[in-house]
Amino acid sequence: MNLKLDSNKLTAILRKVNILLAVLAAASAVFCGVMAFGLLSNPSLERMGLRQQEMEAQIPQLQQKIEDQQAAVDQAEKDAQAQVAAANEEQAAVQQELDAATERKAGMDNTVYTFQNSEQVYQQMRQNIADIRVEYGTAIRKLEDKILAGESNYRICYLTFDDGPSYYTGDFLDKIDELDIHVTFFTIGYQMGKNQDAKRDAYLRREALSGHSICNHTYTHAIHNGLYYSKENFMDAVKKQEDVVYSATGIRTDIVRFPAGSYYCPQRTAVIEELTNQGYGWIDWSANAFDSGTNIKTKEFVARTVVWQVSQEQISVVLMHDWRLETLGALDSIVSQLKEKGYIFLPLFKESSTVGTVRPKWDN
Ligand SMILES: [Zn+2]
Repeated sequence: MNLKLDSNKLTAILRKVNILLAVLAAASAVFCGVMAFGLLSNPSLERMGLRQQEMEAQIPQLQQKIEDQQAAVDQAEKDAQAQVAAANEEQAAVQQELDAATERKAGMDNTVYTFQNSEQVYQQMRQNIADIRVEYGTAIRKLEDKILAGESNYRICYLTFDDGPSYYTGDFLDKIDELDIHVTFFTIGYQMGKNQDAKRDAYLRREALSGHSICNHTYTHAIHNGLYYSKENFMDAVKKQEDVVYSATGIRTDIVRFPAGSYYCPQRTAVIEELTNQGYGWIDWSANAFDSGTNIKTKEFVARTVVWQVSQEQISVVLMHDWRLETLGALDSIVSQLKEKGYIFLPLFKESSTVGTVRPKWDN
């Protein structure tokens, strides 16, 4: 602010005016002195009278000069006050701007806080969902234990669909919704091909939101192209798929199924040890829909095969594929027949007794 500067200016002006007044006072003194000297030195009354008249004639001019100077001082004072007022006004405007800026900053801080807060809320929700999954898995495990101890008439069928999301996954989800059951998807990120990530992720989200379990079938499923060359290759493909599912759904996959089954993996023991060390469960299957071969199966074949195998077990894990239309066509029949036999259809959780224990019973 230039308030101080203005005060200085005012002081300077006043100083000049004071000097002027001092000069005028000195001039008046000299005038009086001269007049007195005239009176004393020149006894001529006439001359004295003349001199006096001359001098008296100059008085109004001198008075006018004094008044003019006084007016100039007043004006300078007014100007200085006006400058101070303007400076104050300017300062008030600056203050107002500062206040507005402070308010804007507070608004931005609040926005930043809201974002931070929503991320916290999101993380908390994810944690809640993870907790609920554990609770649900634990409850299912208790039911399994009762069934295995002969204390329950329930039977459990875990329908599991491998290799999706595929272009038919939406149709499978519609049918599964209609049947009002819950299932498990062993997903691969690579299935739908290039530029289809958004579609794939939408299917993954729908699977998650419908209460199904989403598990890990590795990103590439490249059983003939490097997946089983080393433990590291396999774990990389698992992690990559985990990231795909996590970014689409916020869910960490915690059950892995080996493409073609764990017995197909040359380093089976080492990989299982690595998975276990890293906190993953793994699972094969007990029943098999035999729907992944190139031979075209009828939906009747799929239904008959699945229903017969599941019926041999109290708790059954069925291998199927959500890219096979015959399997989609068989679901009505499979579910209605098995419900009649007392089976309920549940999603797989890591807590299940079947994780890490079931073995293919009817595969060659
Ligand atoms: Zn597969």
